[in-house]
Amino acid sequence: MGSYLRMGGEEVDLVGGRLLWQRGSCMGRGGIVFHLAAHGRRRMLHLSGWAPAERVEDLTGQTVKLEASGPDAAVDGRFFATAAIRFGRVVEARAILSIDGEVEPMDLTSDSLSSVEADVACAVEGVASRRFCLGCGRNVEQFARDRDDYVGGYRVRVSVVPVLCPTCEGVADAPRHCPVCGTAYVDGEVHTLGDDASLGYTATCSEGHTFSGQLTG
Ligand SMILES: [Zn+2]
Ligand SMILES: [Zn+2]
Repeated sequence: MGSYLRMGGEEVDLVGGRLLWQRGSCMGRGGIVFHLAAHGRRRMLHLSGWAPAERVEDLTGQTVKLEASGPDAAVDGRFFATAAIRFGRVVEARAILSIDGEVEPMDLTSDSLSSVEADVACAVEGVASRRFCLGCGRNVEQFARDRDDYVGGYRVRVSVVPVLCPTCEGVADAPRHCPVCGTAYVDGEVHTLGDDASLGYTATCSEGHTFSGQLTG
C-alpha cells in the first residue's frame, strides 16, 4: 500500500513512517502511548496519542480520536483541530493506519480549517526500556517513579526509571554503562553532544543500544 497525505486538495507521497510506542496508563487503564512521524518531500506529519492495549498488536482495528492535542499533532507545524486515527493491521514491526482530520489555518487571522487525509504504512518500534544505572550498571528498576504527561490531549501515566542510581547521583561524571543492557562502554563509544558535556552525551554500546541524553533527569 502506498502512503500518502492529502491536504487542501494537494496529495503527496509519504515515506519513512515510524510508530514509536511505550506502555502507559490513562485514568487507571493500561494502554499504549504512541508517537507517529512520517514525511513526504514537502510535508511533515506527526501525532501522538493513547489507546487501551496490552500489546502493540491490540491497536489493530482501533480508532483513536484526538481533540485539543495542540503541538502533539500537526502537519507542517499546523496543529490538528480534530483527528481520527484508524489503525489497520498492526504487528510487532509494521503498522498501517489512516488519519482523517482538520488542521488549523496557517494564517491565524483566517478561520478556515484544511482537511487532511492520510494513509501511512510505518515501521513499529518500542521505546527501548532503560533498566540499568548509566554510572555503575546496577539495576535501577526499583527506583522507578510514575510520571504524568499530557499526550495528544490524553493524561497518561508512564513509569520512568532514573538515569543514575542514588549512589551515582551527583557523582558520575560520564556514562559508563549502557542503560538498556548494562554492558560497560569501551573507548570511543561515548561522545559529548557539544563541545563539552553541557548538552549531554550520546553513546552506543556493543549491543547497538543508543543512549542520548544527560546524566540528570
Ligand atoms: Zn549507579
Ligand atoms: Zn546496550
